[in-house]
Amino acid sequence: MIATFQNTREFAKELDAKDSLQKYRQAFHIPLQKNGDEHIYLCGNSLGLQPKLTQEYIQQELTDWANLGVEGHTDAKHPWMPYHEFLSEAMAKIVGAKPQEVVVMNTLTTNLHLMMVSFFQPTAKRYKIVIEADAFPSDKYAVESQLKFHNIDPKDGLILWKPRAEDNLCHLADLEKIIQDQGDEIALLMIGNTNYYSGQFYDMEKITQLGHENGIVVGFDLAHGAGNIQPNLHDVGADFAVWCTYKYLNSGPGSLGGCFVHERHAHNKNLKRFVGWWGHNKDTRFNMRQEFDPIPGAEGWQLSNPPILSMAAIRASLAVFEDAGFENIRAKSEQITGYLEYLIDEINNDKIHIITPRNPSERGCQLSIQVKDADKALFDALTQKGVIADWREPDVIRVAPAPLYNSYQDVFNFVEILKSLL
Ligand SMILES: *Cc1c(COP(=O)(O)O)cnc(C)c1O
Repeated sequence: MIATFQNTREFAKELDAKDSLQKYRQAFHIPLQKNGDEHIYLCGNSLGLQPKLTQEYIQQELTDWANLGVEGHTDAKHPWMPYHEFLSEAMAKIVGAKPQEVVVMNTLTTNLHLMMVSFFQPTAKRYKIVIEADAFPSDKYAVESQLKFHNIDPKDGLILWKPRAEDNLCHLADLEKIIQDQGDEIALLMIGNTNYYSGQFYDMEKITQLGHENGIVVGFDLAHGAGNIQPNLHDVGADFAVWCTYKYLNSGPGSLGGCFVHERHAHNKNLKRFVGWWGHNKDTRFNMRQEFDPIPGAEGWQLSNPPILSMAAIRASLAVFEDAGFENIRAKSEQITGYLEYLIDEINNDKIHIITPRNPSERGCQLSIQVKDADKALFDALTQKGVIADWREPDVIRVAPAPLYNSYQDVFNFVEILKSLL
């Protein structure tokens, strides 16, 4: 880690030259501007860039399909029948789980519903769900609809963990207070971690402990966490987690989601669930008339045979992660985000305020920058100048230097452009 930064292009170049992950930028397609220059792409929190390997991996499956037809299920270079298993080990490392605890399937919101079918089992006394007040809309809709599915009015059953007005952040003490007051009525803590809006990464271990000590099931949505921070799902002890692979995991628009079920639930056949044939015992799956016999672990929640082309893209992306090593990625993430923070502070303008926590262990690589009195014109001007970032009404720009493909010069150039527009 570099302790002191400098606000010069030379220094940014120096950081790039010393960056052990620098070569991975060449492993991605960086979108070009109309003038042929590369965009300053800071939007990996929304859609990660395409690894060059992806095309080759998908082409392999197209070729096998063309040459083998149905026999590709068993004879493809990477047979389609067990294809999801080729992802489990690498994906498990990304989220700090055991391979058996992880499966790639469906999409994020679908997985969230499937998990709540199993892990939200309200009783007359214990029927409430806690989410963050500014949870991603899809999560809020999903949770509300699950409550309604059980004939619970969300006005009564949904508890919001609200960010404080003073800093826009959610404080653990406020969650503790909620649990102190209503703990024995709460069935589920369903927390989006890292928060999509503020970039705040909560202490998952404390949240899980807090839940479990009070008899509450704990699940996380890691849409903005997977590939960004290390959630250590197994050790943290979360009951379940879900995530998508098209943000930091660079697996393409609408790509499949991930799902974690802690091993303590692996053999529990009494857990209610919605099931399909792909979750059935592999030895007897094709006997067709057997009673449902779930595969132990997360795989038992699979419904359908999965889209191989999408999984090929995930395999390609995970190969890049494996090669680079997640610890190295996280180390660069802390440094490049620290550099971005330093440069924004250097602008020294009262109108600019970083919402995201200052402490690197409470955030990933995203910084949410509030610009007082700004409107979308500022963001449009940034876009004009070749910056691809993300705008949230009324006044927040979210930027995420992704350690695998963003350079320190990207960060430097972005802040120079922002400064020129203020
Ligand atoms: C991106 C994101 C989603 C999107 O859900 P999909 O089902 O993949 O469309 C949901 N929740 C959160 C927290 C997200 O960040």
